[in-house]
Amino acid sequence: SQQIQFADDMQEFTKFPTKTGRRSLSRSISQSSTDSYSSAASYTDSSDDEVSPREKQQTNSKGSSNFCVKNIKQAEFGRREIEIAEQDMSALISLRKRAQGEKPLAGAKIVGCTHITAQTAVSGCLSGVPGLGHQLFHGEQTDCRDAPVLAGVAVFAWKGESEDDFWWCIDRCVNVDGWQANMILDDGGDLTHWVYKKYPSVFKKIRGIVEESVTGVHRLYQLSKAGKLCVPAMNVNDSVTKQKFDNLYCCRESILDGLKRTTDVMFGGKQVVVCGYGEVGKGCCAALKALGAIVYVTEIDPICALQACMDGFRVVKLSEVIRQVDVVITCTGNKNVVTREHLDRMKNSCIVCNMGHSNTEIDVTSLRMPELTWERVRSQVDHVIWPDGKRVVLLAEGRLLNLSCSTVPTFVLSITATTQALALIELYNAPEGRYKQDVYLLPKKMDEYVASLHLPSFDAHLTELTDDQAKYLGLNKNGPFKPNYY
Ligand code: NAD
Repeated sequence: SQQIQFADDMQEFTKFPTKTGRRSLSRSISQSSTDSYSSAASYTDSSDDEVSPREKQQTNSKGSSNFCVKNIKQAEFGRREIEIAEQDMSALISLRKRAQGEKPLAGAKIVGCTHITAQTAVSGCLSGVPGLGHQLFHGEQTDCRDAPVLAGVAVFAWKGESEDDFWWCIDRCVNVDGWQANMILDDGGDLTHWVYKKYPSVFKKIRGIVEESVTGVHRLYQLSKAGKLCVPAMNVNDSVTKQKFDNLYCCRESILDGLKRTTDVMFGGKQVVVCGYGEVGKGCCAALKALGAIVYVTEIDPICALQACMDGFRVVKLSEVIRQVDVVITCTGNKNVVTREHLDRMKNSCIVCNMGHSNTEIDVTSLRMPELTWERVRSQVDHVIWPDGKRVVLLAEGRLLNLSCSTVPTFVLSITATTQALALIELYNAPEGRYKQDVYLLPKKMDEYVASLHLPSFDAHLTELTDDQAKYLGLNKNGPFKPNYY
């Protein structure tokens, strides 16, 4: 199988490109896992809610009190959830095994801010393995699984944190007596922002920042442009493997999950219009077609429109089909794709939802008018009722359907976590001068390595180039196999 050297092979990181429209699941992934379908019901004990975790004295089985979670007694439940997550995160586990031998993060002190779920716990434990990284602190406002505390990773997080709690948790992770981080693992840029604002001297020891989210990457880029970025940073969000999995495959799976959980709709024979045939749109269309839905596509770009035609979809203007469709799904990254005029013309019981950008694609504001009545029928499901009795079914108030109403597959999170871990290893081990105070993309080779670590799950056997073939294609036998722009 393909091997890469942790320290040496990643020199040529491409600079962060100046393109707009960054794409990421960002932190909002985590919010989905706190929604009503989370499997975490067994964690909640109503007595927990009476006292703020900040007021509680808790000690874990190792005698440490250096953490703050809702109820440490629930740690065993958390451990079982982590074991389930590990089943689909075998690439991360194999990276962990390799790292146990090579100890690429020996001496690393990582402060992190991300959503705490069973999946991120698996990656947290990776860094918490003795000899890999000394400690990993997480502060975040989502679900709390307590087992990472037992694994030597100090966690400050609980479900239902207030804004004040959120910043308190971050502060407790940064401002620690006798301990100072030398790496930052961030998801959203809040931790980085806090360190800049409150403890700028911490940056003297920081070797690098690994950032996961679209927002955080954007902030880093702004810092870099203003000449204020004082350490190298790695943009994990835009790595090809992550983009492909988050946008195409993850959406292909989660569109149906989100729609089914909220509406119980049957798709066979239903007419669905998908706006935008980019990665997300392609995933949604493929899933709906497989269930026998009649799928229409809208596009502004002739290339994507032609792809939709080749894939057997009718390319139309939204106004041409809006009266007849049963479901409208936006995936454009654009704004006001579904306007009030469209909404006025929809038929009774038409389902409207967004898989694209935050909450801009459907003009939801135009529905908050006195002539329309809103009726909440389920969590994340509203009926908007017109004066003549027509109802439109609006999901997640126009926010991302899958992130609000379904869960994200563990396998996708494994890809993200593996990429993060490799980015940490690279930045931590990079020789002086390899990275400047700038934002870097993962090199193709690292992306390929992340993918190759996930292949054994499928018993997939890669073909190796012969010397002759490698020469013919002008490639190194061990990659990278594609140019950086791929
Ligand atoms: P993309 O750029 O590949 O695709 C968007 C497509 O929409 C493009 O082909 C573009 O031509 C088309 N488009 C733009 N305006 C349009 C309009 N008015 N009408 C019809 N088509 C239009 O991007 P992508 O990777 O598919 O991502 C799309 C959006 O989904 C982004 O905002 C991204 O952040 C978001 N996203 C969501 C998830 C999720 O889990 N729901 C995952 C990844 C990305």
